[in-house]
Amino acid sequence: MIQPSIYFTPGPSQLYPTVPRHIQSAFDNNLLSLSHRSSQFSDIYKHTEESLRKLLDIPNRHRIFFLASATEAMERIVQNSARKHTYHVVIGAFSERISKISNQLGKQITTIEAEHGTNVDFQDIIIPTQTELITVVHNETSTGVITDLNHVYQLKKENPKALLSLDVVSSIPHAHIDFKYIDFTFFSVQKGFGLPAGLGVVIVSPKAFDVSRTLQTNTYSTGSYHSWKELAKYAQKYQTSETPNVLAIYLLGQVAQDMYRLGIENIREQTMIKAQYLYNHISQTEGLTPFVSDTNLQSPTVITVRNAEPDKLQTKLSQHGYEIGSGYGSFQTSQVRIANFPAHTIYDVKQLCHTLTKISTE
Ligand SMILES: *Cc1c(COP(=O)(O)O)cnc(C)c1O
Repeated sequence: MIQPSIYFTPGPSQLYPTVPRHIQSAFDNNLLSLSHRSSQFSDIYKHTEESLRKLLDIPNRHRIFFLASATEAMERIVQNSARKHTYHVVIGAFSERISKISNQLGKQITTIEAEHGTNVDFQDIIIPTQTELITVVHNETSTGVITDLNHVYQLKKENPKALLSLDVVSSIPHAHIDFKYIDFTFFSVQKGFGLPAGLGVVIVSPKAFDVSRTLQTNTYSTGSYHSWKELAKYAQKYQTSETPNVLAIYLLGQVAQDMYRLGIENIREQTMIKAQYLYNHISQTEGLTPFVSDTNLQSPTVITVRNAEPDKLQTKLSQHGYEIGSGYGSFQTSQVRIANFPAHTIYDVKQLCHTLTKISTE
């Protein structure tokens, strides 16, 4: 029998190993026929919320809301935080996306940009006084560049009046966030959590929640069914305003619990070990070079690699049972990307590296 491929793609990615078992139990217990107004659904919702709080150290006063995707979170964050002025740190396609969304929603945007493969110098950032929202990406999935969280916390300390949003889509649950400095933290589940796509999560600080209320009392539109106010109205009953993706909410709770039991510190340590292994191996393999040359900026969870013939490399790896990601956008013809998430074992990583060596000498 042919083994199914292992997905080292940056998202969707390899499913976390316990997912099939939890999907089976969702079927066995008929969870997918439940009404989203039933007490059984509220129990699932509550379990997922509590598991996330425990796993990620989310303070009780921060609210957790379920959305459709991380992209939706970007739009909701802008709608619920800014009347007019937003500021964006843009280091690649995903950090650019939220600035474009803000622009499309009619805001006046200011950006600071870095060349792809690098990050901005946070000391160069000057936030205009009228700024209501600042957005930063923790891990830029399109380029494989990571942002030092201490720079992000410092930015908030220096600009306490503006709300700060942090995109952690491809760094969570590896990232250990200090939520006291972050007003909006958001992610979707098909990357680090190793779940099927179709769910976004946003974590909102008490201050950010109050700002949204002030905007509303000033008859400013913060959106409809997914404004923070509407989301909170249902969340306090452990419900959602619309009929949600029940399976995704259930699976997130189960996998968050699995990861907590295994020990999140353990998982984080393993991620660093695997990242080190991958970067070392790539630097030593003919025809492959890390795209991000500054080692302080190299993402542990999304490794971008320069290669002259990425299509050929991907096809060959595929024949050996490994799927890796293409370069993003214009990098499609010069790069590949390799994800390093909790679903990827050290064994898988070593086998992948072994195969890369074999292929490069063929
Ligand atoms: C994948 C990704 C997104 C978009 O996530 P969706 O679930 O497709 O909306 C946003 N930001 C980053 C950093 C990502 O990697």
